[in-house]
Amino acid sequence: MSDYQKMWQDLGMDMEQHDMLCQVLPSAVGDVFLSQENRPKSMDFWDLVISEVHGIRPAELIEEQKKGRKVFGTFCVYVPDEVVVAANGIVTGLCGGSQFWVPGGEAVLSKSTCPLIKASVGARLGKTCPFFRIADIYVGETTCDGKKKAYEILGEDVPLYVMDVPQMKRPQDIIKWKDEIATFAKKVEEFTGNKLTVENLNKAIHIINEKRKALARVYNCRKSKCLPISGRDALLMMQISFFDDPERCAKMCNRLADELEERIAKGISVVPEGTKRILVTGTPLAVPNWKLHNIIETSGAAVVCEEMCTGTRYFENLVDETKESLDEQFMALSERYMKTNCACFTPNRGRIDDILRMVEEYQVDGVIDCSLKFCCLYDTEKRAVSQALKAKGVPVLSLETDYTDTDAEQLRTRIGAFIEILNG
Ligand code: SF4
Ligand code: SF4
Repeated sequence: MSDYQKMWQDLGMDMEQHDMLCQVLPSAVGDVFLSQENRPKSMDFWDLVISEVHGIRPAELIEEQKKGRKVFGTFCVYVPDEVVVAANGIVTGLCGGSQFWVPGGEAVLSKSTCPLIKASVGARLGKTCPFFRIADIYVGETTCDGKKKAYEILGEDVPLYVMDVPQMKRPQDIIKWKDEIATFAKKVEEFTGNKLTVENLNKAIHIINEKRKALARVYNCRKSKCLPISGRDALLMMQISFFDDPERCAKMCNRLADELEERIAKGISVVPEGTKRILVTGTPLAVPNWKLHNIIETSGAAVVCEEMCTGTRYFENLVDETKESLDEQFMALSERYMKTNCACFTPNRGRIDDILRMVEEYQVDGVIDCSLKFCCLYDTEKRAVSQALKAKGVPVLSLETDYTDTDAEQLRTRIGAFIEILNG
């Protein structure tokens, strides 16, 4: 990634620290991804993007900024990309997935904050992530308490806007979220200098729906008994989709789905017949958090689905494209986003129903429910998830982890024992 030194300098990054971060990436990519056999050829796109993750897309974003476009950095799947895209803005995900950033976060946050939040704050304060440097504005949301307080720190020297996400899903909450989206739209108009119209919002809704459909096509292929793609590769595709241009993302995912469908037709699988199929559920896996998938798939099982924000929650459910006024469109957006089932809602029975449905759809043999340390929301829901799965006779393993490698061997032992049980 040496070609981008000047760009990083211009972004005011800490070059020494950033070099240290960049040094570990190539071997991690090699170990987790390139070492796999029989990968779909279309993964070449994501291999390139991840090998230059701090170069290619940041350089594109800077070029777009020169044309007057604004970059919105987001942290949660409830923030509606459509509103930003309609106003000719660009959305980029900002969640931190590396242990490298955690100490920087711990310097200003309680240690008992989840690693995702600590890493996100550390990435900003340590000046080692170009995306955090490039974003013109951060858009937070009132989901969990840790994030709410972290936004107060993140917003100290960057424009920050926080969306107030409801905590329940009653009819009045859907209306409240619609009003919140309308208020956000005003902020986006003001920040970009571009007005939202029925036409540009409908076009944006269509673009993001097409991206969701393309991601869903790839996931549909993972439902096949003949498994044409590993969980690691699918996860990488999903993680990058938070950063990429949505139209290119749809194009590349459709290209991958074409290849996967062809593989299924020809009976080409990435794992031997009878390999146990795992659904993982829990807290999101932000780049470069590949630990769980890597351990599962090097222990003799395959990950076939992620019921996570870096998974099905990102693409399931489309926005109605037939609405004819901004008010109706905001309502359609609210209805779609409120179908996403995050543990920050109460009650959250929808997530249990989703998991049970996906166990059937993806022909799952066992579920691994894994949350990040200090995420009390997902940790607490483990009980309900486990009870519901056990009632249906589906084996489940509940885990907690962080971004360090210190628990890797312990996880490997527990996951290995779980797979052994599945293998009977
Ligand atoms: S887990 Fe909840 S708070 Fe976190 S990104 Fe997903 S929806 Fe947002
Ligand atoms: S993993 Fe849990 S604690 Fe961390 S940001 Fe997501 S919801 Fe909040």
